[in-house]
Amino acid sequence: MDIRAHLSMVFHLDKCIGCHTCSVACKNIWTDRPGAEYMWWNNVETKPGTGYPTLWEDQLNYKGGWMLGADRKLRLRSQDKKDFLPKLFYNPNQPGLDDYYEPWTYKYQDLFDAAAGDDQPTAIPVSKITGEPMEIRSGPNWDDDLSGSPIYGENDPNLKALTPEERQMMFEIERISMMYLPRICNHCANPSCVASCPSGALYKRGEDGIVLVNQDKCRGWRACVTACPYKKIYYNWKTGKSEKCILCYPRVETGQAPACFHTCVGRIRYMGVLLYDAERIEEAMKAPEEGLVEAQRSVLLDPHDPRIVARALDAGIPPGWIGSAQRSPVWKYVSEWKLALPLHPEFRTMPMLYYVPPLLPVMGRQESEVYGHDTGELFASIDKARLPIRYLASLFSAGDPGPVRDALRRLLAVRIFQRSSTLGDIAPEQASKVLREAGLTEDQARQIYTLTALPGPEDRFMMPPVQREESIENTCAPDQCKGGCGLGPTQVPERGL
Ligand code: SF4
Ligand code: SF4
Repeated sequence: MDIRAHLSMVFHLDKCIGCHTCSVACKNIWTDRPGAEYMWWNNVETKPGTGYPTLWEDQLNYKGGWMLGADRKLRLRSQDKKDFLPKLFYNPNQPGLDDYYEPWTYKYQDLFDAAAGDDQPTAIPVSKITGEPMEIRSGPNWDDDLSGSPIYGENDPNLKALTPEERQMMFEIERISMMYLPRICNHCANPSCVASCPSGALYKRGEDGIVLVNQDKCRGWRACVTACPYKKIYYNWKTGKSEKCILCYPRVETGQAPACFHTCVGRIRYMGVLLYDAERIEEAMKAPEEGLVEAQRSVLLDPHDPRIVARALDAGIPPGWIGSAQRSPVWKYVSEWKLALPLHPEFRTMPMLYYVPPLLPVMGRQESEVYGHDTGELFASIDKARLPIRYLASLFSAGDPGPVRDALRRLLAVRIFQRSSTLGDIAPEQASKVLREAGLTEDQARQIYTLTALPGPEDRFMMPPVQREESIENTCAPDQCKGGCGLGPTQVPERGL
C-alpha cells in the first residue's frame, strides 16, 4: 500500500445557477494578461452543449486521455512510440483557434472621442490578437443557456447515448432540459497530461496532488494540450509555454480556498482531503467501463480506519492532514454517501474532482405527480425524467446508469425526508421507508441536507494545515493531546497523537 493525501473537490450541480462568477474571479486573478486571453481555467458550460473548446468531449477527434489496449495495458490515446516524434512538430489533434475563439475587446475610447452627432457612439470589437476590428462569431460561452435554440445543444457528444424519443423530449420547446457544468482542471490521480510531457515539465505535487507546469522546464511542445481529455491545459502564445489551473496554490498554502470556490454564489463547491492508495490506481483504471466508478472509489481509503491512519502516519502524512481527511466533505459525498461521481471516468485519468448529479431537472416535470406515491413508483420516476439517466450516465459514469440512478435515488430520498419533516405533506413512515430503500439512515439524511443546504465556508472548505510546522505542532504525547489535529488520542494511541 502506498498511501497519499490529495486535496480534492466536489461540485454540487443542483446548486449551480450558471452565474459565471467563478470564471470571472479566476480570469481576473490568473489569466488577464497577454497570451492568456482565451484561457478559461474555470469555465461553466450549459449541458446539453458543445462546451469549451468546442466538442472537447469528442476523443475521436482530440485523442485525449488513456485507452485500454487488448493486452490490458493503458496507453495514451494521443501518441505512441511510432508517432511520438512527428507529433512533436505537428499534432493534428490539437484544438486550434477556431475550436476556442478569437479573443477580443472593444474600442471603449471611441465612446469618449466620437464627434458630436445625432447617433449614440458605439464601441466596436477589436481582435486582441491582431488589434484589427473584427466581427464576433463565437466565444467561450457561445451556447450559454442553449443560446435560445437547440442548434448547439444538439451537437453534444453525450446525446449519442440517447434514444430518438429521449432526444426529442430533451428539446421539447416548452421545457428544454438543461443543467450547468462548471469545470476546472480535475488534478487527476492518473494525469495523462503529466505522462505526455516530453520535457518532464508537468508534475503532480507529492504533498497535496496539485498538478502544475514548471514554466522553466516547459518547451512549448503542447503534447499536454492534446493529452488532457478535459482540455484544461492551454498554450500561451506570448511566452511559448503551457499553462493550467494551479488550484490557487498560493491561497491554499495560506489556508484559503481557491478563488473560484471562495466566490461561488451557489456555494456548490466543496474542498477536502482524500487519502488514497497510489499502488492501486493503475489496476483500477483498467476496470471495464461499467465498473470504473466503483473501481475509482475503491482506491480511496477510509480515514477513520485506525489501520489506515497508522499507515498514513508511517507514510509521512502529517496528522493535521489526516484529521482534515476525517472531516472532509469530499470523503462524505464521494464514499460515505456515494452521491458524487467523476466526470467522464472512461478517460481513465482518475479525476479528483467529483460532481453530485443534478436532481432538479430530473424532477422538474413530475414532482407534483410523484410525491405520496409508493416507493417503487417514486424511484421509477427517476427513469422517466426529462433529463434522461442515460445522458447523465454518459457524463458521470462511463455510460453505466447504475451509479447515477443510485445517487439520484438518495438525493430524492433526502428530499422526501426533509419535505416530510418540514411541510408534513408526506407521512413520516413513507419518508423513512424511502430512505431505507435508498440505503440511507435518518442521521445521514440530516447530514446530507445540512451540508447541502446550510453550509458555511468552514463546512465546505476543510482546508488542511499545509505548513509543515503547523502539522508538527499538532503532534503530541497521548497525555498532552489538545485535539488540535482532530484525531484525538484514542484513535491512534500507539502514535501518541
Ligand atoms: Fe491534467 Fe488537469 Fe487535464 Fe487531468 S484535467 S489530465 S490533471 S490538465
Ligand atoms: Fe455555478 Fe458557483 Fe460558478 Fe455561479 S460561481 S456559475 S453558482 S459554480
